[in-house]
Amino acid sequence: MDYIWCFFVKFKQTKILSNLKPISRRDFLSKTTLIAGTTFPAMMALGMIKPAPVHAFDLEGNAAGKKVVILGAGLAGMSAAYELGKLGYQCSIIEARERTGGRCWSVKNGSTHQEDDRPLVRASFDEGLYFNAGPSRIPHNHELTLHYCKELGVPIQVYNNVNESSYFFAEGKGPLSNQKIRNREVHNDVRGYMNELLAKCIHQGELDSPLTKEDAEKIIEYLRAEGGLDADRLYKASARRGYIESPGAGNSPGKIANPHKLADLLRSGLMDPDFYNVAEYTYELQMTMFQAEGGMDKIAKAFEKKLGTAIRTGAEVTAINNVTDGVKITYKDKAGVHQLDADLCICTIPLPVLGTINNNFSSDVSRAIDYISYNQTGKIGLQFKRRFWEEDEHIYGGITHTNNELTQLFYPSNNYLDKKGILIGYYNFNEKAQQVGMLSFADREKLALQKGKLIHPQYDKEFERSFSVSWHKTKYSMGGWAVYNGETRKEAYPVLLKPDGNVYFAGEHLTYLNAWMAGAFESARYVVANIHSRTTNSRIAYPATTTKG
Ligand SMILES: Cc1cc2nc3c(=O)[nH]c(=O)nc-3n(C[C@H](O)[C@H](O)[C@H](O)COP(=O)(O)OP(=O)(O)OC[C@H]3O[C@@H](n4cnc5c(N)ncnc54)[C@H](O)[C@@H]3O)c2cc1C
Repeated sequence: MDYIWCFFVKFKQTKILSNLKPISRRDFLSKTTLIAGTTFPAMMALGMIKPAPVHAFDLEGNAAGKKVVILGAGLAGMSAAYELGKLGYQCSIIEARERTGGRCWSVKNGSTHQEDDRPLVRASFDEGLYFNAGPSRIPHNHELTLHYCKELGVPIQVYNNVNESSYFFAEGKGPLSNQKIRNREVHNDVRGYMNELLAKCIHQGELDSPLTKEDAEKIIEYLRAEGGLDADRLYKASARRGYIESPGAGNSPGKIANPHKLADLLRSGLMDPDFYNVAEYTYELQMTMFQAEGGMDKIAKAFEKKLGTAIRTGAEVTAINNVTDGVKITYKDKAGVHQLDADLCICTIPLPVLGTINNNFSSDVSRAIDYISYNQTGKIGLQFKRRFWEEDEHIYGGITHTNNELTQLFYPSNNYLDKKGILIGYYNFNEKAQQVGMLSFADREKLALQKGKLIHPQYDKEFERSFSVSWHKTKYSMGGWAVYNGETRKEAYPVLLKPDGNVYFAGEHLTYLNAWMAGAFESARYVVANIHSRTTNSRIAYPATTTKG
């Protein structure tokens, strides 16, 4: 459809253009300026300005050592420094943590973490084991994230986000409560019943729709195939929902259980929108998904390697001030308080943290920083001495969904068939994350084990150790990611897309890709393009989007 439309437009344009008299560039510009109010689109049309290509990002012109100070060595800060470095800027990055990567962090043996005013904790996982406390999945349509993996030589592997073998577990709710039910059973039963209902309506002519008899028959055929219905358009269990006795040799055809009753599925909440897993239908969570081999922070480490001594870790920014012709940044480290002058600044500090830092921003900017909210979220990594989910239950990657505090259990998509492994014992959000985050580290572990063993009784025998992170309680993050509502997106977001004097703002929070690494990269490029445009006095169009559906 799109293709035909494009072809039609192109054909019309060609016809119209061939009838036009020759026109000079100057005339063309002045005429289109009158129409569009700006020469910019016209200059683009004439090829006088190049849009920044998404992946090559080969902006023209050299900044000849202009000084840019970047606040935060997360993915936004480091990718901005990396791209600015290619253009001749002199960048320094001030990072409060002792490590780079910010939220892009994989917890392994020796990793340390601090929340609020609690004592520092240190992970003691076995060597080679890790879990991603922050990002764990790269969507196949996040071209920029994949692009940087390629450019920086970070190997990736498939992340199994959707697994029909993992479970739904409704604790204390309805006739199916406290039973682990395979995803494939719930998905196929629900699909079967819904298609049976629809087929019945269509067959009896009860749908208020102008279908011809042939159309109705075709739809019924489709519903039969989609729902696994029999010749009478009734849903009966089939091998789709798995076996209770596997098929094998000789006299072993396999045994299929009866489906769960529709009323039971409903009453146990397995069809509630926040439980029945439709997340995997969303654009970003559709397979194929990827992860960086050996931990997602390999991406951060790869940037760190490129940037070398430009990054100062253990340096906490305490004040950001616009001054005439530049910026003055105050930061403190173990040696004391320091000041750093630069021509421009890119601030990637998450907004809840930025709101606590002295500054002389305009009142609009200060208000925007305060208004945009962040979510609460937490994860726990549980090390087990045996990969019982694989050995006993045939679960290789994927997610189990629960209605209790755990919300989700993630099985590792790496090192299949190894002896030991770490699974993510909960990954929760908002109220549940807040409740669990208030617990001590020991009590979070207790809760994860107590609830988790309802699903996997093997926990008791196989558990070794844990490590948990509550992002909203973590000093230099103070939240999982930015969450906009209609008003903050309309009022606050555009304010921070513009620089405040010599300070530019970047990070996942300044995109429509919140909660994604791709957001950090897109935002970094957006700001780099704007800074370079200002420095070289040229107009550079930042590509509106990197994805093509
Ligand atoms: C639980 C969780 C799951 C996620 N899952 C995914 C996923 O599956 N896939 C995906 O693509 N993305 C995911 N994300 C999102 C992704 O991690 C972020 O979008 C991205 O890492 C944000 O990068 P950033 O540079 O904008 O911010 P940050 O990583 O937060 O970087 C900001 C930096 O500023 C530093 N800083 C803060 N205060 C100061 C100060 N005063 N002085 C100096 N430095 C300071 C911080 O230490 C940090 O290094 C997830 C995030 C979380 C929390």
